[in-house]
Amino acid sequence: QKASEALLSLKHISVEFDGFKAVNDVTTSIAPHEIHFFIGPNGAGKTTLLDVICGKTKPAGGEAYYAGVGNILKLKEFEIVKKGICRKFQVPSTFINLSVYDNMRIAINRDKSVFGSLMMRKRYLDTKKIYEVLHLVGLDKKSKERAKALSHGEKQWLEIAMLLVEEPKLLLLDEPVAGMGQPETEKTARILEEIKDRCSVAVVEHDMNFVKSIADEVTVMHEGAILTEGSAEDVMKNEKVQEVYLGR
Ligand code: ADP
Repeated sequence: QKASEALLSLKHISVEFDGFKAVNDVTTSIAPHEIHFFIGPNGAGKTTLLDVICGKTKPAGGEAYYAGVGNILKLKEFEIVKKGICRKFQVPSTFINLSVYDNMRIAINRDKSVFGSLMMRKRYLDTKKIYEVLHLVGLDKKSKERAKALSHGEKQWLEIAMLLVEEPKLLLLDEPVAGMGQPETEKTARILEEIKDRCSVAVVEHDMNFVKSIADEVTVMHEGAILTEGSAEDVMKNEKVQEVYLGR
């Protein structure tokens, strides 16, 4: 059903670390323009699954079919990025002493060196795209500020903006609202809802209120395997999920 129209279709993915199955026979798919959450207790295999999608970890078995490309598991990490799958890690990746705008210039010229991209003459179309994306994340009026002057939330949004100028088809996010207060969490939700017009978003997340507020699809993982999938409402009603989360 869904698999035929999927942007990314994972089939029987397994990852082993010294014989331990961190991901165990996972089959699921990510549709175009959806916000797809991966939730579950610590150690469930969520991060490892994102690592497989972006090519950082090679699975022991399985396939990952990406629309218009085919099985991406044979590709190297940088090749997967070039095909439009971009990952934001929890560790910061901005240049804190550079301005918001210069960080964006570096991101838009990812194929050049940092120095080279800053030396390049400003191209009209790049500037237009940079400001359009900064506007989306609410940072267009802070373009001249140094990254280190931004709030925690603004830094996260800048990192998302730095990925968006590369025009990804699939954005992978690791706990994007970690450390954020309520207003910043809500703003992040609005940003992701706007982003999904452009691409699909796969998110590893613990904050269930955040998940409920914007999820199109939720995959619940437990001990490396998928426990259940569906709408946030449906998976939270699931007995097995309640057992895992509430110990019932
Ligand atoms: P989650 O993101 O759901 O918390 P992870 O994907 O980080 O879970 O981890 C799944 C399991 O795999 C955990 O038991 C973790 O200790 C183990 N694991 C993850 N990465 C490695 C690694 N590089 N080497 C060995 N074990 C790992």
